[in-house]
Amino acid sequence: MRILIAEDERRIANFLMKGLKEEGYAVDAAFDGEDALFLARANEYDLIILDLMLPKKDGLAVVRELREGKDLVPVIILTARDAVEDRVAGLDAGADDYLVKPFAFTELLARIRSLLRRGTPQGATKLSAAGIEVDLVMRQVTVDGKPIDLTSREFSILEYFVRNAGAPLKRSQIYEHVWGNYDRWSNVVDVHLAHLRSKLAKAAGAPLIVTVRGIGYLLRIED
Ligand code: CA
Repeated sequence: MRILIAEDERRIANFLMKGLKEEGYAVDAAFDGEDALFLARANEYDLIILDLMLPKKDGLAVVRELREGKDLVPVIILTARDAVEDRVAGLDAGADDYLVKPFAFTELLARIRSLLRRGTPQGATKLSAAGIEVDLVMRQVTVDGKPIDLTSREFSILEYFVRNAGAPLKRSQIYEHVWGNYDRWSNVVDVHLAHLRSKLAKAAGAPLIVTVRGIGYLLRIED
């Protein structure tokens, strides 16, 4: 899951980046509204955390322009303003949720999970495919009912495969989705993916993620 943070207060931006990365999200940051809009258009994010008071272009304008461009990416507004009219303006501009500063990080995480669930059938808290079950809230995985131990990165990679079960994924897509901006020289994807594939194959007794020659990798949904 890839998240964009648009926040001009470096202290808050750094705190959010660090915390979200520890939770296994890929995170990019923009420090003004123009940069936020540029990044949101250039990359595919699963969610945007948007401060309202931003230099160059304020948060309301950013969310309005995204929606005018038919971009439906979930947006959580973070704002120091607690006036009712600001929250109403944010939601009316097309934001999905808002949080007033100062906020508890655990509440932000819960709101992120809640918005990300909207993209799953019936707002499910669990995803499954190919005998794999992914619990998005508890961040636990079972294969044919047996629990397996994954690192935070492996969990993020697997979640992406399960959401796209049966469809081949390019190495660059996996990288961008789990780490953020793509670095084609890095072999970090290969290392984590190799560990994940081996853990899954061991639990299932057969390879679940297979190589698709010339394309990338695929989570098989049929035998
Ligand atoms: Ca600000």
